[in-house]
Amino acid sequence: MNSSKSLKDFHYLLTKTARTISLDEKLLERFIHPENIFSTKISYQADDGSTKEVNAYRVQHNNARGPYKGGIRFHPNTDLNEINILSGLMSLKCAVVNVPFGGAKGGVQIDTKELSIGELERVSRSYFRAGTEEGIFAANKDIPAPDAYTNTQVMAWMMDEHERIIGYKSPGCVTGKPLDLGGSLGRLYATAQGGVFVLEEFLKKHNKTFKGMRIAIQGFGNAGSYAAELLHESGAKIVAVSDSSGGIFCEGDQCEIPKVKEYKKSFTSLRANFCQGDVCNVEKMKKENISVISNDELLSLDVDVLILAALEGVIHKDNVNQIKAKIILELANGPITSDADIVLSYSGVTVIPDILANAGGVTVSYFEWVQNRSGDIWDESFVIAKLKKVMLNAFNDLLQIKHKHNSSMRNSAYILGMERISRAIEFRGQH
Ligand code: NAD
Repeated sequence: MNSSKSLKDFHYLLTKTARTISLDEKLLERFIHPENIFSTKISYQADDGSTKEVNAYRVQHNNARGPYKGGIRFHPNTDLNEINILSGLMSLKCAVVNVPFGGAKGGVQIDTKELSIGELERVSRSYFRAGTEEGIFAANKDIPAPDAYTNTQVMAWMMDEHERIIGYKSPGCVTGKPLDLGGSLGRLYATAQGGVFVLEEFLKKHNKTFKGMRIAIQGFGNAGSYAAELLHESGAKIVAVSDSSGGIFCEGDQCEIPKVKEYKKSFTSLRANFCQGDVCNVEKMKKENISVISNDELLSLDVDVLILAALEGVIHKDNVNQIKAKIILELANGPITSDADIVLSYSGVTVIPDILANAGGVTVSYFEWVQNRSGDIWDESFVIAKLKKVMLNAFNDLLQIKHKHNSSMRNSAYILGMERISRAIEFRGQH
C-alpha cells in the first residue's frame, strides 16, 4: 500500500466532511492529528539464540467517546502512516456503530511467514510487554484486537503477558481471544455477518433480496470466506472468489462455497487446486466447472455486487473504469482510493463504505469486552441478534444523514462519525 498517498486521501475526506458540517478548524485538527503516537523498537529472541529488533507502533487517535480500540497487525510493509490512517478509521467506525470506544491501531514490521511459532510468541509478548510497561494498554484505556497476520492465539499470549505484569486477571485488555479465555461466540464471523446485515438492508430498501443476486468476492480469508458462506446460505449466487494467488470463476454461475472452502484447505491457494505455475489442468477445471481468472478479471466481472475483502487500494484510477458492479461492499479497510471513489460515484455505483460495512468485528469485540467486565457469557444467537440491531441502527442513522446532505454513503458515514466524536469532545469541554 502507498500509505503516504492514502494519508493524503484520508485527510482530504476529513477536510471535505468538516466543510460539509461547518466543523471549525480546531475540531478538524483533532481528527487529523492522533492524540498519541508510539513508535519504538522491540526485541525478541530468535530460535538460533540471537536477539532481533523490529519496528513497532501504536497510534491512539481519539478517546473522547471511550477507551482506544483497534487491532494490531504484523506485516513487513506496515508503517507509521498506515497505522495512523487505520487508527483514524477506527475512531470513525466505532462512532458510526455507536459503540463507546475511541480509535487506535498497532503494528509490528515483521513477516510472520518467516517466524517459528516460538518466535511469534516471543514477538507478541515483547510488543505487549513494551506497551503495558509504557502504560499504553489496559482494559479501560486501550484495548487491542487481531488484525492482519495476528489471531486469537496472539491475543491469548498478549493477555497472558499483560496479566503477568499487572498481577491480576484482566481479560478485557484485548478482544478477539479464544473462547476458553473469554472470547465471544460469534466473533469469528462477526465482520462478515455485519456486512451481510447491512447489504441485506440496503437491498431491502431497493425492494430486492439476496435471491439470485450475482456476487464476486475478492479475498477469501476471514472476512471474505465467511461472507461467501453466509451469502450462499441466503440464496445469493457467488460466481467468483479470489485470494492473493488469483481467482476462480464458477461456470455454472454459482460456486459451491463448502467445496471452495475445501479447495482453500487442501492447497496453499485457490489457484493451486488447478494450476502449477502457468500450467493449468484443463480437464480438472472442466470437470469441476471452474475457470481460473486473475484478480483484475474478478474486479471487472459483470455482477450485481462486488465484495472487497482483501487489501487497501485495490480499486484505483487505472482500473476503476473496468468496474461493472453497481454495488460494492467494502469489507476490507480502504480498498478504494479517493480518486476512484469519485469516478464510481459519478458512474452511479453505490459503495457501502468500510467504516460501516466491516464494523461488525469491532461491535462483537465490544460485546466481548462487556462480557469480560460483567463475567457473563452470552449465547451466540443473542450476540448475533444484538449485532444485527447495532448494524441496522447505524445503517438507518447513516441514511438519515444521506437524505439530509444528499451525500454518498461514504461521506454520510464520515459525517455521522465526525459529528458524534465532535459532540463528545465538546461535552468534555476539550474544545
Ligand atoms: P485475511 O488475512 O484472513 O484474508 C485476506 C485475504 O485476502 C486472503 O485470502 C488473501 O489471500 C487475500 N489477498 C491478499 N492479497 C490479495 C490480492 N492482491 N488480491 C486478492 N486477494 C488477496 O484477512 P481478513 O481478516 O479477512 O481481512 C481482510 C480485510 O478486511 C483487511 O483489509 C482487514 O483490515 C479488513 N477487516 C477485517 C476484519 C476482521 O475481523 N477479520 C475486521 C475489519 C476489517
